[in-house]
Amino acid sequence: MVRETIDRIGVVGAGTMGSGIAQVAATNGYDVVMRDIESEFVENGFESIDDSLERLDAKDDLEERPKTIRERIEGTTALAELADCDLVVEAALEELAVKQDIFADLEDACDAAVVLATNTSTLSITSIASELEYPERVIGLHFMNPVPIMEGVEVVVGEKTDESVTELAHEIAADLGKTTWQSDDKPGFVTNRILMPWINEGIRAFDEGVASKEDIDAGMELGTNVPMGPLTLADHIGLDVCLHATETLHEELGDRYKPAYLLKRKVKAGDLGKKTGVGFYEYE
Ligand code: NAD
Repeated sequence: MVRETIDRIGVVGAGTMGSGIAQVAATNGYDVVMRDIESEFVENGFESIDDSLERLDAKDDLEERPKTIRERIEGTTALAELADCDLVVEAALEELAVKQDIFADLEDACDAAVVLATNTSTLSITSIASELEYPERVIGLHFMNPVPIMEGVEVVVGEKTDESVTELAHEIAADLGKTTWQSDDKPGFVTNRILMPWINEGIRAFDEGVASKEDIDAGMELGTNVPMGPLTLADHIGLDVCLHATETLHEELGDRYKPAYLLKRKVKAGDLGKKTGVGFYEYE
């Protein structure tokens, strides 16, 4: 049911993830259409792409000039311009109603052979596709942040996803230089189901005085060989993003996912981590 060749990839959302996905697709030779709701957001997406391409170029990590790669990406605010894409990856807000509306619009714009992927971290693929006429073409392509650097992509298979769509998702991710693993459409999939309670427990341990934040991070880094401890990682991801994901898991899976009190308090205070300059640590 999928197209035999994928040449043109649409990306919905030009934020952190959407701009990263557009960049990686263009770097690997695809024509890309990147759509956001305001031209200012599209421009911000292009700025992130330019910065990232310049940094990779400075390290000799690109096979082509940044300008050549950048020219493969068109920016737009019109969803209709995604109509001639062979695959669309949605990376807009992590709200079910927003994603359902976007997918309904995509279904109107794109014919039934166009695969519609979502980069959701925690929402159900089956629910995102539930109102569509062709839910079998919807799949989770969960890129990791930062997309140009992180190698892994989680392929999430919805209740109705067609096997040909799942195969295509693995193939496209491999073509983008990524390595995939597959998860069923269960809350949090593999990664966030395990990562979010790990972070949440690190925050609780700190709040309950088990150790200093530095010692909690050092204990996990040195003791389990992960590159970042839970408090540093939470600051990098954004405490609001961690809270939102943990709340979704809590709703779906019950009390073992209850968000740590300190996580909620920090989000209320606006201390969201690296992006606001203060989280568990302070940043320049
Ligand atoms: P972001 O806030 O940086 O970007 C979201 C963008 O989507 C914004 O520019 C916003 O204007 C745009 N948008 C909102 N509604 C839209 C619409 N109807 N059409 C087009 N664009 C629209 O968010 P992000 O961090 O890039 O996250 C995007 C998605 O990726 C979310 O589902 C998130 O859960 C997922 N994700 C995020 C991370 C991460 O670490 N940031 C990692 C993996 C997955």
